[in-house]
Amino acid sequence: MAEMVRAAVQTGPRKLEMREFERPKVGAANGICGSDVEIFAGHIGDPNRPAFIPGHEPMGIVEEIGDVAAERWGVQVGDRVALEVIVPCRACNDCLTGRYQACKFRKYGHGVTNVDVAPHLWGGFAERMYLSPNSVMHRVSNDLSPEVAAMYNPLGAGVRWAAQLGEIGLGDTVVILGAGQRGICAAAAAKSAGAGTVIITGLESDGHKLELAREFGADHTVTVDGDDGRDIVEAVRELTNGEMADVALDVTPMAAGPVNDVLHVLRFGGLAVLAGLKGGREIPLVTDHIINRGLRIKGAFGVDADANKAAIALLESGRFPFEKLHTHTFGLDEVGLAIDTLSGREGDGSAVHVSVHPNG
Ligand SMILES: [Zn+2]
Ligand SMILES: [Zn+2]
Repeated sequence: MAEMVRAAVQTGPRKLEMREFERPKVGAANGICGSDVEIFAGHIGDPNRPAFIPGHEPMGIVEEIGDVAAERWGVQVGDRVALEVIVPCRACNDCLTGRYQACKFRKYGHGVTNVDVAPHLWGGFAERMYLSPNSVMHRVSNDLSPEVAAMYNPLGAGVRWAAQLGEIGLGDTVVILGAGQRGICAAAAAKSAGAGTVIITGLESDGHKLELAREFGADHTVTVDGDDGRDIVEAVRELTNGEMADVALDVTPMAAGPVNDVLHVLRFGGLAVLAGLKGGREIPLVTDHIINRGLRIKGAFGVDADANKAAIALLESGRFPFEKLHTHTFGLDEVGLAIDTLSGREGDGSAVHVSVHPNG
């Protein structure tokens, strides 16, 4: 009889059910990010989409692999690998010029593809996953704990958004708005890329996260609400003796204010990177300010292979105490609780990095 594999299947907004599938030919912790919260709620994608196995930041151990795949990926049974959500065609113009995230010919995505598409096990919230020959994977040292290894994704975002898109140079002053796992990882990436001064903001309720951020490269933390809340523009002016920031990154979800804040903390010619999605909302801007200050603005979409590779190297370097970012571990039967814990809907709001370990 074929071996069966259990998976958490999302059948609708906030609806998960456990199902069993026949084990395909291959071989898991899975990180959880803000997108999981929105996907679970049905805010990202069609809420009436067909059922799928979520978990788009998967990491696991190769359990079975064919000779061709082993050669192509340079991995063997027993190696730990991190997967990217996008499974590109690897042949179109976008793929061949490094923009594989824009591939129009991609057929599958890990944590995205419908569960009816054989061999079904596309998402990370399952005991085993199937990897397409076109999957993008990265080897991660087996010496790291599964919790730390699963941070390749938020740290990949930090590297991509702060260090790469932010074009951080030696000695730069960098302002990061938002102190979640991505903000903290952005601070670590900025510092690693040579930033001189890193300033990070958070809410009063983020006290413990701001505390952590100091261990991840932040030189200054600014609380922007509550009785002791400060205006971030004034705070940056004071902390930089009026020089203002070279680079500012917004990773706050939903809040509109930070979009204006990133533009106002910059020096003349500074660079703003926008990475916090605002639910499709229109946000008023005084565009004259962008012109008069000669600012540049970039949109940050996803993480690419280059950033993931750098992030994994930074995790493996042991430079920052990433184990301290991990706050919660859940089993496969608790995927909904895991997602609600990250969003703060459940628990005491202390979650920073949450992962699901399908094999206990
Ligand atoms: Zn994610
Ligand atoms: Zn392509």
